Amino acid sequence: MTRNAYDIGDDGVVSINDLSRFLDALPAPFVVYGPDERIVASNNAYKREYHPYEDQVKTGVTHTELQWLKVNKGLVGEAVARGAAFVQDEQQRHRYGPEVEEWQDEHGKFIRLLRVRLSDGHVIGMRFDITDLRQAQIELEERNGSLKQAQRELETVAMIDELTGLANRRAATSVLDQLADRCRITGEKLTLILFDLDQFKQINDSFGHAAGDTLLQTFAERMTKAFHDCPLIARMGGDEFLVARTGHEGEAVLTVTFENALGDIAQPITFGDVLLDFGVSAGMATEDAESKGTSLLLAMADRALYTAKRVRGNALRPFDKVLKKKARTEAQLRQDVLSGAMEQQLVLHFQPIVEAADIKRVPAAEALVRWNHPRFGLLSPLAFFPVVEELKAMERLDELVLDAVLAQTREWSEQGIQFPKISVNVSPQRLLDASLPSRLAARDIPADKICFEILETVSADNANDVLQWNLDYLHSAGFELQIDDYGSSHSSISSLTTIRPKRIKIDRRFCGQVVASEEATEIVRLTVALANALGMTVIAEGVEDPETAEHLASLGCDRLQGYLFGKPCAADDFVTLLKHATITDVA
Ligand code: C2E
Ligand code: MG
Ligand code: MG
Repeated sequence: MTRNAYDIGDDGVVSINDLSRFLDALPAPFVVYGPDERIVASNNAYKREYHPYEDQVKTGVTHTELQWLKVNKGLVGEAVARGAAFVQDEQQRHRYGPEVEEWQDEHGKFIRLLRVRLSDGHVIGMRFDITDLRQAQIELEERNGSLKQAQRELETVAMIDELTGLANRRAATSVLDQLADRCRITGEKLTLILFDLDQFKQINDSFGHAAGDTLLQTFAERMTKAFHDCPLIARMGGDEFLVARTGHEGEAVLTVTFENALGDIAQPITFGDVLLDFGVSAGMATEDAESKGTSLLLAMADRALYTAKRVRGNALRPFDKVLKKKARTEAQLRQDVLSGAMEQQLVLHFQPIVEAADIKRVPAAEALVRWNHPRFGLLSPLAFFPVVEELKAMERLDELVLDAVLAQTREWSEQGIQFPKISVNVSPQRLLDASLPSRLAARDIPADKICFEILETVSADNANDVLQWNLDYLHSAGFELQIDDYGSSHSSISSLTTIRPKRIKIDRRFCGQVVASEEATEIVRLTVALANALGMTVIAEGVEDPETAEHLASLGCDRLQGYLFGKPCAADDFVTLLKHATITDVA
């Protein structure tokens, strides 16, 4: 039987020669040295490396002889240059070199050498050109590198506020958590101070966005300078900034420190040839046993800021015991609104409205809601409306009050008790509820007994179809409408044409001032003139003394309401009060 070059022998064992012929077909150089360092087998690719002396690469030739061939025949530049040292090094590598070696040759190709030492002393050598593999690897690494760079850039952008270069809210949140962790270890206290510019919106509106941007940038620079020793300064969004402080100082010291800083950072800035004058409000909260977590601490600082802003602005307010107590109360109220407990505990008070010409005559009364809370006692709307509004329960509250008023007036009618027209406050939320007409219609409300008070602000803030539709409904159903707290906002005059009321109630801030302030007197006088010109009459609110009552009457207010004539009181007391009055039923 004839054997071709690649057949396995009859004994089933592959001979070295068979293998070497097979390997001739491979492009990678392959060689086997015996334990005596002589060639046992080699393939053509290996021989070609000794070109044009391929024939000298044959069985029996020693490894050392081949190295000398490289030196003497000038086959390898390095071999020629180093001579015997080259031969010696190659011998050492052949005997003791690593099993895998990689290098780049003089043509820039990447080479990998495999040197497998068998237990019987044979050494198998194989060399591969791994340039393509390496290239792909390098490209991959480069791509990963640029991907990482892009990701780093993206992360930086996502963490930095572009306009001011300060940390943004996202960065601040993560830094705050780290600071809180650190404080837990060091025993320091973490204090957050939230800043807010007082006149930012006006500046933006009056001088344009470029002015607003300049203001924010300058303010950020001032913050960076003033609070350089604080571990975090961030822009939380809009005109709100945050500073975090760690240390052992108490609230009093911190309050003074930051109050002093307020003066510096709130100096007016110049923009072109205008001076931008602005105030800064701040709210401060220090971590204590109750403030678990940085988000709660932030909420506390926010609450303090809100209070600072509401009170007068341009001041720092710490989240102190008073605010803490208020927050705890609100948490309880929130729970009671959500559980429905509030609905069972609402009570009505009534306050008489008298005729200015004869204060014994009572043509109307206002229904005012109170919450008779089992823990906090009788709460005024000011105390619990914020929570009701936050929980979006204002419409529901208004409806409960209206139902209570209707039940009360029905009861009075059944008992033969005479009562004046009752005015019921309608919240902006309810006035914007599209279901208002159907809900009112379903209640069959006597328009001669009930009228509605609407805040003037609703018209400017929400000039939309639902509002118009609801107002039209109220008019067409014959209800008397009154504008409440007239003059308390910038929308007074426009509210006259939107709401088209029968009466306007001038805000008590003006009415209470008429004796002391000529300005207030003028405002009331002009308001009365304007109202009368439009066919409306005027009620003055908050009348507390006879002199004011007289003054308001002389200015043309035809009805008066205030503590002078009766504080808001429970239904029974109101009925008693009515016994000493003449209930008038003027249109
Ligand atoms: P308002 O409608 O302007 O009611 C007049 C407020 O002024 C009442 O406060 C009343 O107690 C108070 N007041 C009356 N006379 C005087 C006075 O001579 N001096 C002073 N300093 N205050 C006087 P109250 O009852 O705390 O109500 C506050 C506001 O809450 C009301 O202002 C009204 O806007 C709102 N409100 C009250 N009840 C309801 C309600 O059932 N529904 C809605 N939506 N709002 C209500
Ligand atoms: Mg009112
Ligand atoms: Mg009012």
